[in-house]
Amino acid sequence: MHTHAETNLEEETLRLLNWLGYFGKDPEGGISRLLYSESWVKAQKALETLFVDEGLKVQYDEIGNLFGRLEGNKYFDETILTGSHVDTVKNGGLYDGQYGIIAGVLAVKYLKERYGPPLRNIEVVSMAEEEGSRFPFTFWGSKNIVGETGPEDVKHLQDFNGISFVDAMHGAGFTFNSHPIRMDFKSFVELHIEQGNVLEIENKSVGIVEHIVGQRRFTFEITGEANHAGTTPMKYRKDAVNAVSRMVHTIYNTAIQFGDPLVATVGRINIEPNIVNVVPGNATFTLDARHIDKNVLNQFTDQVISETEQIADKMGMIVKADMWMDADPVPMNPELVEVIQRLCDENAVNYKKMHSGAGHDAQIIAPHIPTAMIFVPSHKGISHSPYEFTDVNDLTEGVKVLAQTLYELAYSDEEV
Ligand SMILES: [Zn+2]
Repeated sequence: MHTHAETNLEEETLRLLNWLGYFGKDPEGGISRLLYSESWVKAQKALETLFVDEGLKVQYDEIGNLFGRLEGNKYFDETILTGSHVDTVKNGGLYDGQYGIIAGVLAVKYLKERYGPPLRNIEVVSMAEEEGSRFPFTFWGSKNIVGETGPEDVKHLQDFNGISFVDAMHGAGFTFNSHPIRMDFKSFVELHIEQGNVLEIENKSVGIVEHIVGQRRFTFEITGEANHAGTTPMKYRKDAVNAVSRMVHTIYNTAIQFGDPLVATVGRINIEPNIVNVVPGNATFTLDARHIDKNVLNQFTDQVISETEQIADKMGMIVKADMWMDADPVPMNPELVEVIQRLCDENAVNYKKMHSGAGHDAQIIAPHIPTAMIFVPSHKGISHSPYEFTDVNDLTEGVKVLAQTLYELAYSDEEV
């Protein structure tokens, strides 16, 4: 049996998600709401109106992050921040990013109606950009909040239509931040869909994130010798694809030996000359490896590089591994994890402590401000797709856990 209040929360959550999802609705499916685009501007304007309607004090920073503040009673000059990113990938889903913003509004509305003004300010943020889908730059919103980026990083960037980052930003009515970063943020809590299938398979409603994984990405380049497919005996070949197949096999075996939570993916293979009757002379493949422990991640990538070198050596070929991404794992704040876990225990929430295999704004903010992250399940793990889906019961469970967490952080005079 549902109580009346629960039915209302379900309806409100779905109504607001669909309402915000209207901005950027793509005729080809899903939502395309790229940074500083027309639909992006409309979404931020609409959220601004929603924030005002809910009694929040609204402010943009200069690059277009939108904040809605429930004013505290001034005893503490501290702010508890929640929210997520408003941009989407091309043909993205209804939940990635925007769920965290809508949930923040619903949680704050509930707290205000039930308990009145908090001791500390609570702010809901609709962050400008996370996905890197328009310009080759990610986490523009959160990096600006913590002062980790500036004009030099984006001035040279263009989108796929040749529009410069700066022109797009000016066109949307924004410019670069010239004010010092805010020092009043006491903690940040991001609610987000899992974008993986663990919670659904394990039948949990809520995930409490303990770590966001570190990632390393490589391109491996194999140099063999192109030759005639009919006249070159097997023993006289330097077949790059033969080498790739052995290397990939070894990489996956080693990954399985390392075990959870290490994941390794060879997502792209290019072959030259890629012709049916020519022994392939050159090949490249990519490796994406992730783990919550930097040492284990490095150990894994060192080991597979040396294994691929041994394979190339034996086959009389050369392999070169070029690392072009190296992001450290980021732990979430242990005290905040403990608070959320206690609240879940007290309220009989069906939860799991876990790591995030995907990147999030929380990983940018965590080194600067104590940060926590809460997940709800993604059906079949599908994300960045119009087929992204989360059951409404899980959506509302996430809102409730967020509201309880914000209550604990903003209404208690104890230091958390
Ligand atoms: Zn996201």
